[in-house]
Amino acid sequence: MSSYREDFPIFKGSDVIYFDNAATSQRPRQVIEAMRSFNDSCNANPLRGLYDWSVRTTDAYEAARHAVAHFIGAERDCEIVFTRNTTESINLVAYSWGLANLHAGDEIVLTVSEHHSNILPWQMCARRTGARLVYMECEKDGTLPASEYESKITDRTKLVAVAEVSNVLGAVNPIREIADVAHRKGAVVLVDGAQSTPHMPVDVKALGADFYALSGHKMLGPMGIGALYGRIALLEEMQPFLTGGEMIETVTRESATFAPVPEKFEAGTVNAMGAVGLSAAIDYLNGVGFDTIMRKERDLTGLLLDRMRKMPEVTVYGSEDPAKHCGIVTFNIEGCHPHDVASVLDSEHICIRAGHHCAQPLMKYLGVSSTARASLYFYNTEEEVERFADALTKVRGWLGYGA
Ligand code: PLP
Repeated sequence: MSSYREDFPIFKGSDVIYFDNAATSQRPRQVIEAMRSFNDSCNANPLRGLYDWSVRTTDAYEAARHAVAHFIGAERDCEIVFTRNTTESINLVAYSWGLANLHAGDEIVLTVSEHHSNILPWQMCARRTGARLVYMECEKDGTLPASEYESKITDRTKLVAVAEVSNVLGAVNPIREIADVAHRKGAVVLVDGAQSTPHMPVDVKALGADFYALSGHKMLGPMGIGALYGRIALLEEMQPFLTGGEMIETVTRESATFAPVPEKFEAGTVNAMGAVGLSAAIDYLNGVGFDTIMRKERDLTGLLLDRMRKMPEVTVYGSEDPAKHCGIVTFNIEGCHPHDVASVLDSEHICIRAGHHCAQPLMKYLGVSSTARASLYFYNTEEEVERFADALTKVRGWLGYGA
C-alpha cells in the first residue's frame, strides 16, 4: 500500500482503480487545504485592491508564480504567465508570436505524436500566414530518431513545437538535442510539458526551451490553472493575446499601452485560488521527490507490462522498457472496441481512457482508429495493477468473445 495514497481523500474507502492519471491526476489534501485556507482567509480580487485581503491575495498569487518559475528552472518569475491550461498556453504563443513572426514559406516542425493541442494552433497559423507544417516521424515505440530532427529542421524552420512526453506512448523526446538543432537554424522551440511536469524534473534552461507549457490538473493541482514559460526577450516583443482589465498601463478613448510581462498576458481577473493550489501541488511533488515518483511508476509499469505480455490477445504500444512509459500503457484487446473495454472495466470500478487520445495523426500512423490507455501514477499500488490485469484477462469473456 502506498503511504502517499492516504493523502488523497478521493481514495478513502473507495475500491475504484484510477488509471486515467494522464488525463487528470487526483489532488492530495495538502492542495485542497491550501485552497481552502486561501478561500477562508483572504479571497479578494488581486492586483488592484489597496486593502489587506486583496494585498494578501496578490502576494499568494505572485508566490505561486515564483513556485512555478523555480519548479521548471525559469530564471525570472516574470517569465511565467498563468493560463488556464497547456492548450491555452500554446494558443497564446500561436496567436501572439506565431501570427506576428511566421510568413509564407516558413516551416513549423512538429512530431506525428503531438496532442491536438499542439497541432491545431499551428494549423491555424499555417492557414493564416502561409507557413507550412512539417512532421517528424517517430518509430513505432515512440522514439524520435536523430535523423528526423537533423533532416526536417532546416533554414526554413521558424518554430519547432514538440511534446516532452507523448500522451499515448509515454516516450520522452530528446528536447535538448532537438533544441540545439533548432537554435543552430535560428528557430524558436516550444515544448508541450503537459505529460512531463507530473513525472520528471524539468529545467527549461537545460532543455533549451524558448516556450514551455504545462497544466496544473495533470500534476496534482486544480483544473483551470496552467502556465506558459516564455523567454523574457520573446515575451517582451509579443503583443497580448487577450485584452481588457488588469493588463494595461494607460487607456484613452482610442488606444492603450500595456503593462509589462507577465501582466500583459493576464487580462481580466486571474485564477488566484488555482495558482495557490498549483503552488501547493508543486510543494507536494517536491516533497515526494521525482526519484521516488519515477521509481514507483517504473515498478508499477514493469509489473503491468509483465502481466500483459502473458496475454496473447493484448497488443501493447510503446517501448518494451517500463522506464520509457512515464506510467502510460496504451493497448488494444483483439476483437474488442476500446470503448467497450473501458465501459466493461468501469463496471468493475476501473477507470481507463479509450479513444484517439486527441492524437489522431499518431493513431493513423500506428494503423488504429483508437486504443485503450491505462495511465499510472506514484499513488497507485501493485494490488491495483494485479486487479486490473486480472480484469483484463476476463474482458473478452465479458464482452462475449470467449475467454
Ligand atoms: N498536450 C499533451 C501532451 C496532453 O496530454 C494534453 C492533455 O491530455 C494536452 C496537451 C492538453 O492539456 P489541457 O487539456 O490541460 O490543456
